[in-house]
Amino acid sequence: MKTATQILAKVEVGRLQKAVDGFVSEAYSITVTTQDDEEVRSFVINGDGHQYGVVLTEGQAFCSCPDAMYRKGICKHAVALALHVIRNPQAEAERKPDLALRKVRSSDELARDRALRRLPSLPYEDLPY
Ligand SMILES: [Zn+2]
Repeated sequence: MKTATQILAKVEVGRLQKAVDGFVSEAYSITVTTQDDEEVRSFVINGDGHQYGVVLTEGQAFCSCPDAMYRKGICKHAVALALHVIRNPQAEAERKPDLALRKVRSSDELARDRALRRLPSLPYEDLPY
């Protein structure tokens, strides 16, 4: 949340305007993949269907769109993500991936699985070429 606020404080006004317009008209489709107090990672899909990876971390924004890659500033996707995070804090927290440890298969079990997948030996001598 803090990093999202910092992005909104820093972004150039023209891009803030674009992002707010797009956000309000629901032009962006935003999927947050991970989120905690320091960092937010997401995919942001533009109104035109282009998808960009966007990361907000420590008050900095990284996006794979041409605007961010060439001009190096904070782009409208980063701002749209910041707005999304600020306005939907609870919904995103619920979507956090479950990182609980699961039972790990033993090396014996893995070997048994691999043995089953091994192809039967082919009768090369019988092939006509
Ligand atoms: Zn961008």
